[in-house]
Amino acid sequence: MNPVIALVGRPNVGKSTLFNRLTKSRDAIVADFAGLTRDRHYGHGKQGSREFIVIDTGGFEPEASAGIYSEMAKQTRQAVAEADVVIFVVDARAGVSAQDHDIANYLRRLGKHCVLVANKAEGMLEGIQLSEFYELGLGQVHAVSAAHGQGIRSLVDLALGML
Ligand code: GDP
Ligand code: MG
Repeated sequence: MNPVIALVGRPNVGKSTLFNRLTKSRDAIVADFAGLTRDRHYGHGKQGSREFIVIDTGGFEPEASAGIYSEMAKQTRQAVAEADVVIFVVDARAGVSAQDHDIANYLRRLGKHCVLVANKAEGMLEGIQLSEFYELGLGQVHAVSAAHGQGIRSLVDLALGML
């Protein structure tokens, strides 16, 4: 099976926008993904000759007030479990939040391959303005703009290169 990349992060950081950037077939039929749980948002991605599956984890967002464990419950945990690589999306403009820390702690404990991505970074000075994200303890922060299509190709290279 092709590698599976899960997009996680708190609401409104741009996961779905990134999902749409990464996938050509936005309405992929879930039945194509035999063996994967069916209640999330799957899509096919392709870069050069490399194909991959992307999971958007928008489903946990309505429970945002219920705390990280219920919020990331089920859908996100299952998506992460199915993923070969997790792309953890944060908001370059909003900065680090308590919820980002909770998600980072969760991901670090799992020990999965993880790429930290600061979205909405168009026009920003990476080295200076994104340095605070290093406190999440997930290594290097990778700047992208899902809306403007910046940094996407190297993000895919980075994510697939971990496998
Ligand atoms: P999700 O809740 O994490 O799935 O976030 P969405 O993809 O729904 O995006 C939330 C908001 O952020 C929307 O208004 C998007 O248009 C906006 N957004 C997404 N990506 C970018 C980006 O690269 N730059 C900027 N400035 N806004 C973005
Ligand atoms: Mg979404």
